[in-house]
Amino acid sequence: MKKTLLVLCLSAAAWCDPTWTVNTPKFPLIAPQQSWVELEVKGPAGAHPQLQGPGQGGLRGGGSPLTEMSPGLYRCRFQPIEGDLRVDEEVLGSCQTVSGLLGIFEVTRPGAVFRTGPSSDYDRLTPVAAGVRFEAIQRQGDWVQVRPPMGWIKLSDGNLLEPSASLGNPQLTMIRVSEPANRVQIRLGSPCAWQVREDVEGHKLWIDLPGVPMAMFHIAYAQKTKNLPSIRMWPQDNGSTVEIPLRQRLWGYQQRWTGQDLIVDVTPAPKIDPKHPLRGLRITLDAGHGGKDSGTVGLELKVKEKDLNFKVTSALKAELEKGGARVTLTRNGDRQVSAESAPADQELQSRVEVAERSQAQLFISIHHNARPDIKDGRVSHGTHIYYYQPSGRGLAQAIAEPLAKAIGEPDWMHLWRSFHVIRQTGMPAVLVEVNFLSNPTLEKGMLARPDYAHKAARGIRQGIERFLRADL
Ligand SMILES: [Zn+2]
Repeated sequence: MKKTLLVLCLSAAAWCDPTWTVNTPKFPLIAPQQSWVELEVKGPAGAHPQLQGPGQGGLRGGGSPLTEMSPGLYRCRFQPIEGDLRVDEEVLGSCQTVSGLLGIFEVTRPGAVFRTGPSSDYDRLTPVAAGVRFEAIQRQGDWVQVRPPMGWIKLSDGNLLEPSASLGNPQLTMIRVSEPANRVQIRLGSPCAWQVREDVEGHKLWIDLPGVPMAMFHIAYAQKTKNLPSIRMWPQDNGSTVEIPLRQRLWGYQQRWTGQDLIVDVTPAPKIDPKHPLRGLRITLDAGHGGKDSGTVGLELKVKEKDLNFKVTSALKAELEKGGARVTLTRNGDRQVSAESAPADQELQSRVEVAERSQAQLFISIHHNARPDIKDGRVSHGTHIYYYQPSGRGLAQAIAEPLAKAIGEPDWMHLWRSFHVIRQTGMPAVLVEVNFLSNPTLEKGMLARPDYAHKAARGIRQGIERFLRADL
C-alpha cells in the first residue's frame, strides 16, 4: 500500500484561503484498487480547484478540475490505478500558479482606497474607480498588494479573479478640454488606476496613468480656452502622464470615472478684488464636534470643545460677512450634522457635503487641541493649522501666524495631516486647532477671556485675506 498525499490544487484566487474544507472523504483514507472515491470540497465560488494526482502512485481523475455543483461546492471522483491507496491528509492550496501572480484583482466598490501598506493605518495613495483591474501580487490578512501602481487594497473592495483573467485594455486615445467648467476629459476606454499630483506652487497638475499606453490620440480644445492652456502628455515607465498647466493658481479639483472617461474638473483661483478680497467669496465654516460628541473637555472648568469651537466659528462668520463673504455653517447649534446614530465617518462626510452643496470656495474647520497624555496635555500650547491637499497648504501657512498673534500665543505651525474633512473636500481646506483646551492655564486664562473668540476670528480673517492676496 502506498502512502501519499492528496493535493488539492486551487486557483490563485483561493490560495491560502482558510475557508476551504473537505466534506468527503474522511482522512486518513484507504482506497482499494479500482474503487472510486468521491471528493467533495467547500470553498469560495468560482475558484476552479484541481485535484493533483500523487504521480508515482497513479491516480485516475487526478489533474482534472473539480466540477462546481453549486456556488462554492465542488466534486470529482478519483481511483487508484495500481494497488491500494492510502491518503493520510489532504493538502489545500499547495500549488504554484502559472504566472506567479496571485490573480487579477477587480475593484467593485466605488470609492475604494489604495494605500501604502496592508491596513487602514497606512497612508492613502489615491481613490480607485470600480471596475479597475490590477495584477494581484500577494495577500496579507484582508489586504492584497496590487500593481500598477504598487499599492494595497482591501480584499473586500473587490474580487480576486483567475491569473488568466483580462486586465482590461485601457489606452489613452483622446483628451477634450472644455470651459467654463475647466473640464479635462481623458478617454481611456476601460477603467484604470490614476494618480493626480500638483506642484507646490499650484500652477500645474499631472495625471499619471500607470500601465496605460498612449495610442492614437488628439487634444480637442473648446474654442476659447483661457484657463487651461497647452496640455501635454508623454509616455512614462510602461504608462503615460498628462500635464495640465494653469493660468491661475489651482484651488482644487474633482475627479471621477464615467463610462470610458476620466473626468478632472479643475478649479482655478477666483478673481480677487484687492480692496475687498472677501467680497462674494463662498466659505463653509465647520465647528468641530457637536451634539453627543463633546470633543475634548477642559480639566478644570470642564469647558467642552464643541462649545468653544462654536463660539469661535460664530465670531468668524460675523467677521467674514463684514468683509462681504457668503458664509455657510456645517452646524448651526449644538447638534450633529447627520443623524445621532450615524458612525463618525458619516458624520464627517456630512460636513464635507455641506461645503459641496453650497459650492464653497474655502473650507475652515475650527477645533481646540488636546494631548492623549494628560501630563503633556496640561502644559501643551500652540496654534496648529492642518492641511491635506496642496491647495490648502498656502491657506494653512497664511492663517497660522496672524491667528497665534491675535490670541497672544507665541508658537504656531502649519502641518500636513490626513483628517477626513480636509482630505475629502475639493477646495482649499484647513483644520484649525486654535490652542490647547487640555492645558488648564489656557482653559482658565486665554480661552476664558470674553474677547477670545472675537480675537481668534479676527486673526483667522487676516490670514484668509493674506492667502487671497498672495497671487495679486
Ligand atoms: Zn476637535
